[in-house]
Amino acid sequence: MPKNISTRYCSFCGRPEHDCVCLIEGPAGGLICPECVKMLDEYCGDVLGVDYMAVEEEFDRKEKTDNADKFEGKAEKYCKPKDMVAFLDQYVIGQDEAKKKLAVAVYNHYKRLSHNLPMGGRKASSISGVIEASSEVELEKSNILMVGPTGTGKTLLARTIAKMLGVPFTIVDATVLTEAGYVGEDVESLLVRLLQEADYDLELAEKGIVFIDEIDKIGRKSDNPSITRDVAGEGVQQALLKILEGNVVNVPPKGGRKHPDQEYIQVNTQNILFICGGAFEGIEKIIAGRMNTKVIGFETVKNDWIDKKNLIKYVESADLRKYGLIPEIIGRIPVVTYLEALDRDALLRILTEPKNAILKQYETLFAMDGQTLVLEDGVKELIVDTAIDKGLGARGLRSICEKIFSNVMYDAPSSRKKRIEITVEYARGCVNNSKN
Ligand code: ADP
Repeated sequence: MPKNISTRYCSFCGRPEHDCVCLIEGPAGGLICPECVKMLDEYCGDVLGVDYMAVEEEFDRKEKTDNADKFEGKAEKYCKPKDMVAFLDQYVIGQDEAKKKLAVAVYNHYKRLSHNLPMGGRKASSISGVIEASSEVELEKSNILMVGPTGTGKTLLARTIAKMLGVPFTIVDATVLTEAGYVGEDVESLLVRLLQEADYDLELAEKGIVFIDEIDKIGRKSDNPSITRDVAGEGVQQALLKILEGNVVNVPPKGGRKHPDQEYIQVNTQNILFICGGAFEGIEKIIAGRMNTKVIGFETVKNDWIDKKNLIKYVESADLRKYGLIPEIIGRIPVVTYLEALDRDALLRILTEPKNAILKQYETLFAMDGQTLVLEDGVKELIVDTAIDKGLGARGLRSICEKIFSNVMYDAPSSRKKRIEITVEYARGCVNNSKN
């Protein structure tokens, strides 16, 4: 098929622009797509001496300007699930299953949005999360739930996808929410934050993404002997339902409690994508029970195809219901996926591989003073092993690095050394000497 003259192509792999996250233009007019940049980085970065900082800056700049336009009703034409996963791969290590499910759900969500647009923008609240597509097929909203241990990348995935789409994004901790009228934040406060993120641009906010963290902590406390109302549990779930299913919600523009004389902004939540996350500690036992097996350590004759060390991968709605989520909420979060615990290899990769990996950030800080940071073999492993020993996982990597690099960052700017070397012995001293 002859190439369309108005379409631009990557000069390396020949992919058309609409199949790439973006195309980066060189000074002589040559074009390169992020996949080829990544390949160059992996295979011949050192040989070519490519200035990746410059390439990444350009990439980020293009991302910001292009992405906002991309999803103006054209999701299916531009960012396919595979492209989204390729983008997520640059920032999030592993978690392939969650990436795929997230990408498909987001893709479908924005497709649904684009079906909605020609029909006249905002839809009435009464249709509760279901819109009529032009083909008269009803496309339901695909809110997502990510189940997995803390610090495995749930928030990072949601944040990265929002960054890619160029839509407003906010994180809300479900534990601070209470039923209206009780001490704590009203559920509407999450829409206030989204509005603030969108600089009060209502149309933009109504296409945003809300990440509701710790959703497992608002489980129904049915076996709670207390006779008081469950205002932080089931009460919040009931209040959330109204927002999740797609309604026009009255939101006090500056947040705080609602009162009768106040003016409200009416936010339609129909096209807001809700991504929920939670550790759901102990849910493995519920899964094991359902699957008629036992948690690690007990062998059963049947079901030997089950990966008993990783039961979380079999999580489904029935388990969430047993855990305490009310069926109505589960019905509004149809996509359920899981994140795996991170092992040593994954932590090592997190330290160095993501686009904004922690060690790359330190290297950049030193490079800004014209210095090269060099780590002796074994320092990275020491950082990761310390994080594992302290049970900190990925969350601990930065604080351990901070302990190692803080004194060096104090001294290095006044030194003439071009090469700042960190030995294993020095790093171990820093880690062991710190009080926590
Ligand atoms: P969660 O929401 O699952 O509790 P986060 O996404 O907040 O965890 O992760 C905390 C930090 O740990 C992130 O900011 C990131 O630096 C790092 N991290 C966790 N998981 C990953 C991962 N899979 N890939 C890259 N970095 C990760």
